[in-house]
Amino acid sequence: MGRIIAVANQKGGVGKTTTSINLAACLAEKGKKVLAVDMDPQGNLTSGLGIDKNTLEYTIYHAMSGEINIGECMIVHPLEHGLDLSVLPANRDLAGAEVELVDAEDPQHILKNLLKSVKKKYDFIIIDCPPSLNMLTINSMTTADSVLVPIQCEYYALEGLSQLVSSTKQIKRLYNPELDIEGVLLTMYDGRLNLTCQVAAEVKKFFPKKVFSSVIPRSVRLSEAPGFGQPVIYYDKRSKGAAAYMSLGKEFLKNNRKRS
Ligand code: ATP
Ligand code: MG
Repeated sequence: MGRIIAVANQKGGVGKTTTSINLAACLAEKGKKVLAVDMDPQGNLTSGLGIDKNTLEYTIYHAMSGEINIGECMIVHPLEHGLDLSVLPANRDLAGAEVELVDAEDPQHILKNLLKSVKKKYDFIIIDCPPSLNMLTINSMTTADSVLVPIQCEYYALEGLSQLVSSTKQIKRLYNPELDIEGVLLTMYDGRLNLTCQVAAEVKKFFPKKVFSSVIPRSVRLSEAPGFGQPVIYYDKRSKGAAAYMSLGKEFLKNNRKRS
């Protein structure tokens, strides 16, 4: 099937990478073949999946610049859990692509063309986007079937959302007519706080029918896990963060079954 999901929000620190890592791991845990793609020069998805980003010979940058084939930078089974998970890693080299890609032929479609040859091997491809609406994000959204938007339940959460929606519409119009919104995920959710409830209500008004009913609570375990290079379902499978992402995985698969 090879359904491609871009996890995007140009706002920083809202849980894009945490969601990419843990959704990918939960889908793999449920027996799906998953490829996780790091499109952020920060390389947090790469390190969060236990890969030392600073010692990589090749990364997605080298594949995007045409220096290598995609298989040469792919890391298969980075986790020792027998999961069907592969990673296209990134590190700060990718920051160069942002400048260099502009001069390439058809710069918006570089990632799409790269993934074409491997897409069929996976059930799901999850792309972690950087916190901006730059060429790397445009490539991700041009490649994706849908966008998953994590939103942190705090005061400025809605700021920039209309910008994200209008960029998504623009990419849909220019490069990717099929692009859809997969869903909006409320992160760092605390149902005891008025603010969380207000933000959740606003987001539901903004995206009717698109908000996942699974929410991700604030959880220390979720923030510790990347330091150990593990998705939370392995770092602490009994934690509320693990339960929340397993619930998201289930809901995501249910939505995808309905769609197909
Ligand atoms: P960036 O925009 O820099 O790429 P991001 O949107 O990818 O950030 P994350 O890196 O996933 O966001 O999360 C930002 C910080 O918040 C990280 O330190 C992460 O460990 C922590 N974090 C994410 N989700 C949660 C959560 N539900 N509970 C507690 N901490 C969290
Ligand atoms: Mg990130």
